[in-house]
Amino acid sequence: MNQSSEENSQTQTPKKVLVIGGGIAGLTAAWELTRLNLDVELVERSSFLGGHAIQFCCKAADECQKCGACSVEKRLLEVIQEPRIKVCLRSELKGMNRNSRFSYTLSRQPLHIDPKKCTNCGLCFEKCPAPGAIFRGYSKNNVPLYAINEGKCLYFRDRSCTLCQDLCSEKAIDLDQEQGQISDEADAIVVASGFQAFDPVDKPRYGYGINKNLITALDLERMLREQGDVVRPSDNKAPKKIAFIQCVGSRDHKLGHGFCSQVCCAYAMRMAEAIRHRHPETKVSIFYMDIQNCGKNFSKFYKRCKDSIRFVRFMPGDIFQGDQDQLILFYGDEKDGHAVREPFDLVVLSVGIMPGSSNAGLADMLKLDLDEHGFFSFADPLDSTSTSQPGIFLAGTAQGPKDIADSMAQAGQAARRVGQYLGICFGNSTTY
Ligand SMILES: Cc1cc2nc3c(=O)[nH]c(=O)nc-3n(C[C@H](O)[C@H](O)[C@H](O)COP(=O)(O)OP(=O)(O)OC[C@H]3O[C@@H](n4cnc5c(N)ncnc54)[C@H](O)[C@@H]3O)c2cc1C
Repeated sequence: MNQSSEENSQTQTPKKVLVIGGGIAGLTAAWELTRLNLDVELVERSSFLGGHAIQFCCKAADECQKCGACSVEKRLLEVIQEPRIKVCLRSELKGMNRNSRFSYTLSRQPLHIDPKKCTNCGLCFEKCPAPGAIFRGYSKNNVPLYAINEGKCLYFRDRSCTLCQDLCSEKAIDLDQEQGQISDEADAIVVASGFQAFDPVDKPRYGYGINKNLITALDLERMLREQGDVVRPSDNKAPKKIAFIQCVGSRDHKLGHGFCSQVCCAYAMRMAEAIRHRHPETKVSIFYMDIQNCGKNFSKFYKRCKDSIRFVRFMPGDIFQGDQDQLILFYGDEKDGHAVREPFDLVVLSVGIMPGSSNAGLADMLKLDLDEHGFFSFADPLDSTSTSQPGIFLAGTAQGPKDIADSMAQAGQAARRVGQYLGICFGNSTTY
């Protein structure tokens, strides 16, 4: 920072940036922006910060497999401890006008649990009579740690229960809290609204939702994180034979998703390795079309995985229910194509990264462009954070499929671009 900008930053009220989305990209952009002496309003539409990646398990086997899950936990802690970041949970952008700054309106759904009063004692969660009406965040650093699902809560059905509110000695629960609106202004915006995982219900031949022992990789991530181990949903026993099916939703021209999700090969192999580390007797097969080489040490990692995992270059056609809750995969033999029926205890669908459900609405409000798949498109081919609107920048999977490390790197770059736009970063801008 040169002398005059240093003086400016000391005498002027700090500038403010609106960050949309509280996944790893939004968390990183927010935190990096505060390093530039900027205030941040971080808007997250769900009840918890952390996005998809806060639901992931550590995939360490003999050594760290660099899945990135722990970096999300660390960044979340940094964000909640940073007073310059104001977090708005259950909030969404409803309107935006551009004058000399960005004037915006957020709609806020009630949290019902006051983060300042809640002590995370968990009594409401334990005693709630309606299953799923009170649910927990994935991380101990989620503030508040619990949230109320109005769709399942008896109070919102017929006012028949206020047990959680009555039990809370801190008076942290207010079931009558109403939704509201906030209007404010910001000097720049970072769009980090993320992705949605492919819903395999849209590929009915696999029977997701019908076969209990057919789960998605996201289900497996959550299971490994919450329970610390893999079990068959039908009987809670350790599966002896597991199949991963790759490219579910990705590289599927029939579905209009011709793109590669970039992350599924690596996460499937890491999860397979982590499971085999815990249960060396478990046999894991990965059914694939092509292995996506991602990251500089990927070839070495893939080579190592080939020693313990069976890779089958054939995409199974149909899956049927077998005896003892097993699933029978139909596929063609790699050498001569003859039909093979093979039973597995658990089948994992490696679901891909699809454009976020709010992309179209946000693009409309912010006057941004989407690419042919529905991700936000960048304006400058040399800068993937750029948009057609000065002062609005992109970070993470909102812009296209990428892993945690790349989402963080791009979010850091978006923060620096904001700094340059606001005249805070000086020096050689092309080094970012
Ligand atoms: C099954 C699976 C496993 C994976 N495993 C790994 C792995 O092991 N390692 C790895 O590096 N990568 C992995 N990935 C990729 C990883 O999930 C992404 O790189 C990362 O989550 C991207 O973060 P993000 O912040 O861009 O998006 P998200 O995690 O999707 O976060 C976006 C956030 O924005 C919020 N949001 C959306 N719209 C709005 C709106 N309009 N207003 C306010 N908030 C909004 C969402 O609620 C969400 O909290 C995996 C992906 C999948 C599908």
